[in-house]
Amino acid sequence: MKLSPGPARQWLAGAALAACALLASAPPASAQGLIRDAEIEDTLRVYTDPLLQAAGLTPSDVHLYIIGDPSINAFVAGGQNIFVHTGLIMEAQTPNEVIGVLAHETGHIAGGHGPRRSQYASNQALGPMLISLALGVLAIAGGEPGAGAALISGSQQFAMSSFVQYTQAQEASADQAGLSYLEATGQSGRGLITLFNRELRPYEFRTRRIPPYMMTHPFASDRVESLRVGVDAGSHRDAAASADTERRFRYMQAKLVGFTRTLPQTLARYPTTDNSGPARYARAVAYYRVSDLALARGELDVLMREEPNNPYYQELMGQILFENGRAEESIAFHRRSLELAPNQPLLQTNLARALVQARGRRGADEAIELLRLVTAAEPDNAFAWRELAQARNERGEEALAELASAEQSFALGDYGLALSFAERARRTLPASTPDYQRAADIVTFAGAEVRERMREQGGGRRPG
Ligand SMILES: [Zn+2]
Repeated sequence: MKLSPGPARQWLAGAALAACALLASAPPASAQGLIRDAEIEDTLRVYTDPLLQAAGLTPSDVHLYIIGDPSINAFVAGGQNIFVHTGLIMEAQTPNEVIGVLAHETGHIAGGHGPRRSQYASNQALGPMLISLALGVLAIAGGEPGAGAALISGSQQFAMSSFVQYTQAQEASADQAGLSYLEATGQSGRGLITLFNRELRPYEFRTRRIPPYMMTHPFASDRVESLRVGVDAGSHRDAAASADTERRFRYMQAKLVGFTRTLPQTLARYPTTDNSGPARYARAVAYYRVSDLALARGELDVLMREEPNNPYYQELMGQILFENGRAEESIAFHRRSLELAPNQPLLQTNLARALVQARGRRGADEAIELLRLVTAAEPDNAFAWRELAQARNERGEEALAELASAEQSFALGDYGLALSFAERARRTLPASTPDYQRAADIVTFAGAEVRERMREQGGGRRPG
């Protein structure tokens, strides 16, 4: 489990760091960070892509982001970006409830539902605020928790007050569109009704403690009634989830519970008498988070014997070892996870980081190879840039390390620092190479940003 966002270059920077444990360094009540996890991202994609296709959308154009927030919510922002709260995943009782919400959100995208025009002149208004949502997390992941917390608290207000406020007509249309995608993919719409009745209806007439989903998706009783009619009319209304869908759901929930709840909470939900795979998985994560390595490894050893080809068991074992100062031992597990899930940028990053940490200069060659793949696939992954800078330093490539640091700062939106790193890199890189050109580009872009900000600040500081 990693923290950081994905590849939407224009407004998201990227970084990754160990574990959801990082989430705990943000204020718990307002903890909103983007979580990155290869396994959960894969599950959400498997759930969402068929719905997007049914809607006539191109899955690779739609980005999925997981927000570490215990409240129940999901929303669309900045065009084709779906945000899902961990609370929704953890509180859902069936995969169909999560999939129902994803279908509804897909309905908003397909319907081109944006924020109300009267409030927002254009999508431009969304840009800067989204940046702060993403950068908050990234600043934390990049080692500046103070800055991160400030950015996050600013962006949370944004998320609640102005992110998404659809009209009743748009909500009803997203419901019906969502139902049609579920029908087209042979799935039931019942999850939307059960989620609503269990999690949302009790709050219908309260003004306090309303789940955010109720604020981002205002509803009226007649909307719920037409949703029910639509669900009952579906020819797949009683379709059960496939075994794979069900399994993915149970593991996704177990992992999130293990990573975000306390050990007693995890054990209450997954008692030691429960020997199912998800229960062992949740306990392994929870024990690891309280540094009980023996118990964590005990659970994980059983899982790995049962399923030796599960890449995420290997990843977790690698993470447990790495975080406990056993980087050399973690290498084999990270390598195996990557063999089982090839080309996965987050797994590539894990292996690269372990190689540099454990072997320094000797690990740098392979690490650089891996990190070049990661940064090509996810150019805004600030964490990968940071690791690349370190690997370059190990190899004594100072100018290339500075260029990587410039990329890292650029991805985090720290243009002042990006500018100074890029200027230094440009001084020593051989001219007319692609690296030199990239350094020059960052100098140009970051320099313009810095000048623009200075101008704005100068204007704001006028006396009187
Ligand atoms: Zn909605």
